[in-house]
Amino acid sequence: MICRGCQPREAARNVDVKELINEQLTLEAACLPETEVRKRTEICQKCPYRSLHTCTKCGCYYEFRAHLPQKDCPQARWPKRELKGSVTPCV
Ligand code: SF4
Repeated sequence: MICRGCQPREAARNVDVKELINEQLTLEAACLPETEVRKRTEICQKCPYRSLHTCTKCGCYYEFRAHLPQKDCPQARWPKRELKGSVTPCV
């Protein structure tokens, strides 16, 4: 829960983080399909190791890490990948 005083600052941070993640994804060769990314991020959003946009176990922005086929959850909370070869261009 974010207090009213922090909401404007937090809203600005959300935009900045999204931009950072999108910029970083342009440097990646391959990403997971959106359905897999969504499954991962939904788990992160309920995870006790998440702090705002960051996974406190690996230090990554979880939304960024969730796109990457070569990365896994440091706590093995993400589903096992069914189609290992299924990747898509990131942008
Ligand atoms: S990557 Fe794993 S440990 Fe980190 S926030 Fe997501 S589910 Fe939690």
